[in-house]
Formats: sequence, C-alpha cells, structure tokens
Amino acid sequence: MSKKNWHPVLKKSISAYDWYMKHNNTIPFCKVCNHQLSFVSKASSKRTMHFRHPDNSRCPTILENANLYSNLTPQLKDTSNALELKEWVKENGYLLYKQMCFILGGSMKWSEFTEILLLGKQRDIFLYSGLTTNLLPYTLLANYGIFPKIKGRTGRDFSCFMCFSPTVSSFEQLWNEPTEESSHIFRIYPKINKYEVLTIGEFPSFGNLTPPDYVQGYIDSANL
Ligand SMILES: [Zn+2]
Repeated sequence: MSKKNWHPVLKKSISAYDWYMKHNNTIPFCKVCNHQLSFVSKASSKRTMHFRHPDNSRCPTILENANLYSNLTPQLKDTSNALELKEWVKENGYLLYKQMCFILGGSMKWSEFTEILLLGKQRDIFLYSGLTTNLLPYTLLANYGIFPKIKGRTGRDFSCFMCFSPTVSSFEQLWNEPTEESSHIFRIYPKINKYEVLTIGEFPSFGNLTPPDYVQGYIDSANL
C-alpha cells in the first residue's frame, strides 16, 4: 500500500487523495511494476487514502519483494571488460561516488562506497559482459540492496534501495535488450511507501572532481 504514486503527465508523485480528488480521469498505474492500482480509504479521508497493488504483486515497492537481485549472476563472464571497469573505478572513484550519491538522493558514507565495491566484486558484477561505466553506478547500487537510514545525513532520513523495472530479470537485459521500461531506475523508500523515478544516464555537472586525499584509501580497501 502506498500513499503516493507517480503521475505520468505531471511527472511527479502525488498523493492518493489528490489523485482521487483532482486527477480521477487518469487511471493510476504503478510506474515500477506497471500494474493498475486501486484506491483504498477509510471514509475517504485525506489522511488514510492510499493506493493498493493487486494481490500477489511482485512489485519491489512492497518490502517483502525488496531483495530482487541477490541471486542474479552473469550469464557470460568477460574478464577483460572486468579489468577495464575496475581500472576505471580506480581512476574515477570520486566521480563514481558522486554519481552514486546523486542516484541515491543522499549522502553516502565512504565506508559504504567500499562495501558497495566489495559486494559488487563478490557477486561478479564487474564480470558482466557488455556492462559499461555508464551503467556501472546503477548496477552496483541495485546490487547492494537496502541503504539504512542514517541520522543527520542529507537524504538519509529513511531507508531506501534502488531497483530496475521488475520486467528486468537479468542485468544483461538492461544493456543488451534495452526497452522503455529498462530506461528507468527506481529509488524506493519501503518504510514510507514512497518511490522516485530516475532516468538512467542523467547526471548533473559535478563541478570540481579533484578527490580529497582520503578517497584513495577507500577505493584501495575494495582491493579491486
Ligand atoms: Zn508496483
């Protein structure tokens, strides 16, 4: 059940109440799983109205479905691409960190950055054939799973995780069979039933990318 849903015309998330009252000519579909949502409310009050997925939904916005990627593994392993990606990370770790913070919509600890790289290595993310540096930050974040709430850190007021469309059943599909649905990634806040839609590949200018001295240590700790 979620209180907000992405409106395709307004291009932002609006509350079930606003949708019901002002946009009732548009049927709500979940942008993540493409299923039609129904309105649920107790006495149509603004406070309790929310959207509901169909029964047995596999939508990752529902907390029980959050761990979609832990069993994925490359169908074809490309060791030379893995070496190139790792070299790129060693040289551009600071950029990668900034990209990830942008995607995550919050500040990330440097120790988390190391953990993301370690888990990526452990699950053979770098070995995916066809994986590019453009898709690397998204794939590493989706692979990592849940980012816990961190008190006092920008954008970390609630736990969240990143996921691709549930129509994507392997990471390779993202770059080998791209579709409209696989051009987005979702930032999901399961505790507050909220999600944001991001277009893959869209980054702001990060300005000065001269890394502070401590950065190299966190990259080296991943031992890529
Ligand atoms: Zn859904």
